[in-house]
Amino acid sequence: METYDVLVIGGGPGGYVAAIRAAQLGFSVACVDAFTRDGKPSLGGTCLNIGCIPSKALLDSSEKFELLEREFADHGITVEGAKIDLARMLGRKAGVVDKLTGGVAYLFKKNKIKSYHGYGKLTRQDGDGWVIQIGFEGEASSEIKAKHVIVATGSNPRALPLAPFGGNVVENSGALEFSEVPKRLGVIGAGVIGVELGSVWRRLGAQVTVLEALPGFLLPADPAVSREALKQFQKQGLDFHFSVNITEVKDNGTSVSVTYTEKDQSVTAEFDKLIVSIGRVPNTSGLGSGNVGLELDERGFVKIDAHYRTNLANVYAVGDVVGGAMLAHKAEDEGVAVAELIAGQAGHVNYDVIPWVIYTSPEIAWAGLTEQAAKEKGLNVKTGQFPFSANGRALGHGDPRGFIKVVADADTDRVLGVHMVGPNVSELIAEAVTLMEFGGSAEDLGRTVHAHPTLSEALKEAAMGVGKMAIHM
Ligand code: FAD
Repeated sequence: METYDVLVIGGGPGGYVAAIRAAQLGFSVACVDAFTRDGKPSLGGTCLNIGCIPSKALLDSSEKFELLEREFADHGITVEGAKIDLARMLGRKAGVVDKLTGGVAYLFKKNKIKSYHGYGKLTRQDGDGWVIQIGFEGEASSEIKAKHVIVATGSNPRALPLAPFGGNVVENSGALEFSEVPKRLGVIGAGVIGVELGSVWRRLGAQVTVLEALPGFLLPADPAVSREALKQFQKQGLDFHFSVNITEVKDNGTSVSVTYTEKDQSVTAEFDKLIVSIGRVPNTSGLGSGNVGLELDERGFVKIDAHYRTNLANVYAVGDVVGGAMLAHKAEDEGVAVAELIAGQAGHVNYDVIPWVIYTSPEIAWAGLTEQAAKEKGLNVKTGQFPFSANGRALGHGDPRGFIKVVADADTDRVLGVHMVGPNVSELIAEAVTLMEFGGSAEDLGRTVHAHPTLSEALKEAAMGVGKMAIHM
């Protein structure tokens, strides 16, 4: 039986990064992953195959079309007869995915990581290791042994019991593959994925209706950021309905009808396609958790301690399957940390400053505490805010929507949180995260020289605003 120091189950951002870091630290490493794309193994998990990467590729393509159609004229550029070649757009997206998933396979080879394709199932302990069965249900399987096992099996989309996936009712992977632009698109769930995918198809011409059970959207964001984003999305034509209760979903083959109650009225809407994006559930199927007594919490997430240890000796877990922020970069950093902990080092993730980004237009990004959350913690808070409408670069771009808000501790001036809505904030948030990681103050940020003219000056000015020193407003 092949034997390894470390076996990683799952080849997504949590798993493949853990495998590479473990190999760098001198362990013999294998990774087993079940993901299959177009009939072939494809490393990279949800994120690279059907999540972060393909959704951003389509967001970028559709954004280019929208700019061409609606915004270039302001710059004095008119283009007539712009058309969408959807097959080519989807082909480009597939090419980006191929490059990155192939890149993970290359990194595995480079780091001498053995890659297995199939489900990895914990079967039994044998001496100082675990025996793992590898294969697909109903097919021949093999066994390998590993001293340490890292579970990184990710998550799956949550289905709405009234509207099981299939036909015209799709989850995220289906929503990245429509062969034509739906005329009427329904989206159930106004979370990050619903708003991003709704934006893609709206830009390409769909009439998009978003149905949300909660009274508002993007709830973890600062309320002022959410309000501004909602205003912009509505201006673009996304039709939001909040506080709705879905009562019936009927797929009749050519369209889907959704009945819901809104303000005590029953409404039925017809859509060509319906995306259901109401959250994600941990994926522990095929793992053999029941066989070996791997402890899960009441929602099905693998239970871990602060060092990613499960209740089983030498079995660890990271990424979406352990819960918390279901984000690729959180999974990756946990992957690094767990490999270092297994090596006896001090692996660590700072959960206080995990950046969140929503890749809509305008983009939304934040890290750290909102003003409200800081006050609820009993902290004395002061804030600074700066609009992109007063930033020269944003005006030059032709995109002065949104603002940046800095939340700082009024007693120490330490930055507690930064909240952004506007152009390129997905990139700007990194500066704020670095500052917070080092415990920096609003004054540190405000007195750091920023190139002119850049969007980053809006962050500097927001930080200066904390001390009532903003120059340009
Ligand atoms: P996954 O990426 O889900 O990987 C788990 C892997 O394990 C999969 O390949 C799965 O097939 C495999 N597996 C499962 N069980 C077994 C088993 N028993 N044996 C072997 N293999 C198994 N996050 C961001 O940070 N930024 C974004 O922009 C972003 N956009 C997203 C867009 C969409 C549409 C979606 C759906 C998600 C997005 N996410 C984004 C979330 C991100 O994809 C996840 O947080 C991330 O993939 C989690 O990584 P992971 O390694 O924990 O799990």
